[in-house]
Amino acid sequence: MTAEMRVKIWGSRGSVPSPGPETTRYGGNTSCVQVTLSDGTIVVLDGGTGLRSLGLALTDEPARVNILLTHLHLDHIQGLMFFAPAFRPATELAIWGPKAAEASLEDRIGRYISAPLSPVEVRELPCHVSFREAPHSEWQIGPATLRAASVTHRGPTLGYRLTEGDKSLCFIPDHEPALGAHLDTDEPEWISGFELAHGADLLIHDCQYTDAEYPNHVGWGHSRLSDALLFARRVEAGRVLLFHHDPLHTDDFLDALQGRAIDRWTELGGHPAQIELACERREVEVGALQAA
Ligand SMILES: [Zn+2]
Ligand SMILES: [Zn+2]
Repeated sequence: MTAEMRVKIWGSRGSVPSPGPETTRYGGNTSCVQVTLSDGTIVVLDGGTGLRSLGLALTDEPARVNILLTHLHLDHIQGLMFFAPAFRPATELAIWGPKAAEASLEDRIGRYISAPLSPVEVRELPCHVSFREAPHSEWQIGPATLRAASVTHRGPTLGYRLTEGDKSLCFIPDHEPALGAHLDTDEPEWISGFELAHGADLLIHDCQYTDAEYPNHVGWGHSRLSDALLFARRVEAGRVLLFHHDPLHTDDFLDALQGRAIDRWTELGGHPAQIELACERREVEVGALQAA
């Protein structure tokens, strides 16, 4: 069997769901990406509101699903309570996320899945659910090797890398690697996320702000376009999906941003087929470039 990882974007918006006629093409759902490994194993990256639609598409029983949370900001966990497979007893659900000194992963997620924010408690979910703090060393899910690393954002936040065979995917949806760093000249070991993302065939990375917007948002934990592209070039990503679109960015605005991204990427020495803005429901094979 050839190792093949397929990716489907279920939510590419950041911060807050933003449905409406202005966002139908890029989508209004928040962070959620489905990865299907060569043997059919499903790994879900983040549980934003896109997770609800993904859950409706997962009709097979029994289902074994791993959800890897980068962090617990609401735009990355809000879909957990609306994930249909979690309400079926046959489902085995493993929820991975970052460690924090203050409380266990289960207790921190339980602050959302509990009164008064939620009508159900974690212990009332009919499925078999386990909570796992992502280890510092590599681990295995099905045929894929997983790795997590802390990255620059607000609060404990991870990026993930999945490798199957000779293909790799890196997911860093909320990331401000330029904060206190020079992405063009610093040594790799001083750049947040560098090692995790280095040489990935597909990099899904934060690009919340335009360069003009960024000065008012320094330290908020997100990247401007030029930093996202510079980071992607430094780590020599094979292909890039720019992600975590700002709720204020309409489809037309994002189309224009995509044009600027391609221009800037080409100036940096990249090929236009390597770069695009993530779009809800878009499917991509890891290791393949865009069709012309
Ligand atoms: Zn976010
Ligand atoms: Zn965040």
